[in-house]
Amino acid sequence: MNEGLRRLVRLQELMVTSDAVAERIAAIPAEVARLEKDLLAAQEDLEKARAAMQEMQKDRRRLEGELMAIETKIAKYQSQLLEVKTNKEYQTMLHEIETCKAERATHDERILLEMEETEKRGAALRALEERLKEKRRATEEGKKRLDETAAALRREQEGLEGERRALAATIPPEYLDPFLKVARQRKGLALVAVRDELCGGCHVRVMPKLIQQVRRATGLIACDSCKRYLYVPEDTHHGPSAEPPSAGSPAQ
Ligand SMILES: [Zn+2]
Repeated sequence: MNEGLRRLVRLQELMVTSDAVAERIAAIPAEVARLEKDLLAAQEDLEKARAAMQEMQKDRRRLEGELMAIETKIAKYQSQLLEVKTNKEYQTMLHEIETCKAERATHDERILLEMEETEKRGAALRALEERLKEKRRATEEGKKRLDETAAALRREQEGLEGERRALAATIPPEYLDPFLKVARQRKGLALVAVRDELCGGCHVRVMPKLIQQVRRATGLIACDSCKRYLYVPEDTHHGPSAEPPSAGSPAQ
């Protein structure tokens, strides 16, 4: 493989890796949003439970107020009982008292049931509060972890981009420009390996003659079918292909 092509292969590797890193960075805000949404749901569950609890307590206070009014009524009737003149009045008063006492019993029972229910809900509420606390902690931790991941990815990306820029600066324009043009058109691989006489981009067969040209070429040669540039990976050569720089001939 000639040096220009070799550098393009590495350049493409850097670009593909950098793109993948960029994609991972771009996915992080959605992960943060998911954590925050979970936390919000836990908060809403707790608020709903608290509101229901408050409703129940309000209802209990109402019942207790009514109970007190009933007690007052009973006491009043009982004192009036001593002052009635006729038997009929007496019977009526007794009946009133009985009615009030029945009402009092119903209220007592309802208050008792509500107290039991309040206790049960109180336990559930405390569990929800604990859950929310735990969720808040997990969310903070998760966000911190994602922040760290994003920062590490950004550093990785900066490294890759730096390497890419430095490498690109060393590639002759007759290699770099057509490569970049095809890379933009193809939104990805502009350079593909020929393996088992197949184009790595479109998997169409590459003629042996063309493969020979690719091997020997000093410029870029495109696949007839998909127009991506071809290279023959060095591992498909027989034996080590890279010739050691000959000490005898001065390179410059
Ligand atoms: Zn092809």
